[in-house]
Amino acid sequence: MKKVSKKKTPYNTILLSKVIGLVLLTLFLFFIWDMSKPHLQATNGQAKNVASSDFRDTSISLKAKDQSTRTLDTHFKTNPNQQATNKTNKTVFLTFDDGPSATSNQLLNVLKAHHVKATFFMLGPQIQAHQSAVKRLYQEGHQLGLHGMTHDINLFYQNSESPANEMREAQRILASVTGVYSRLVRTPFGSVPNLTYHQKVRLNQNGFIYWDWTIDSLDWRYKNSQYVPEVLNQLQMFEKNKPWEPKVILMHDQPSTTNYLDSLIIQLKARGYTFAVINETMPPVQHE
Ligand SMILES: [Zn+2]
Repeated sequence: MKKVSKKKTPYNTILLSKVIGLVLLTLFLFFIWDMSKPHLQATNGQAKNVASSDFRDTSISLKAKDQSTRTLDTHFKTNPNQQATNKTNKTVFLTFDDGPSATSNQLLNVLKAHHVKATFFMLGPQIQAHQSAVKRLYQEGHQLGLHGMTHDINLFYQNSESPANEMREAQRILASVTGVYSRLVRTPFGSVPNLTYHQKVRLNQNGFIYWDWTIDSLDWRYKNSQYVPEVLNQLQMFEKNKPWEPKVILMHDQPSTTNYLDSLIIQLKARGYTFAVINETMPPVQHE
């Protein structure tokens, strides 16, 4: 008996361990299979219906799509410039063309008094003539933009190279005064109907981003206080018709505009508007 039992016990033990091993292996395989189930359930109905051979690719692409959406979300949440354009319709972008001028300092005084920043599209010869004003507006946090050299409709738009050439020259002059190579430009009299396709391409190839406007103060026509109610009226219409578009206001660095700028800013603030400068990361406003 002792002999038999001695032989029998090891045999049973081996059998038992084999059975346990098999059960554990089965459990392990079941566990692995089960692990993939929540992943399947996490995907949407479309993914459930596809053939299993297609599933891997679909799930990867869905995951990638999900991640890209999240990346975009994060981008919009963390990018202050996007916030300026997307978050609030109560942001206005004041832009001043044709400067700097002999009265730029008064204009800058008004902006400073109200803690308002603006964007300046400047002419090369004016930059050279009023260097201290350019340095000041740069130091005070305003945005530097270019407006070309001649401001002559026949010269500026004369051929496919002329707009880019004028902007490059103005860019060089601005850089010599401030050290900043601005890529933001506004073409004289606006891009429509003057700027041709090839001129746009050449501007683009030279790294320039051209900006038009969405609200024309008509200060160039009025030359008096009338541009203030004009802006306020256009803003009101704009709120109704195109509330999602950025409010880029065209104005000019000229005495009649500067004289009533204080009044405009006070009334804009009273209506709840805040002020921001345009920059290179924003999708530009371009007339079509
Ligand atoms: Zn101009």
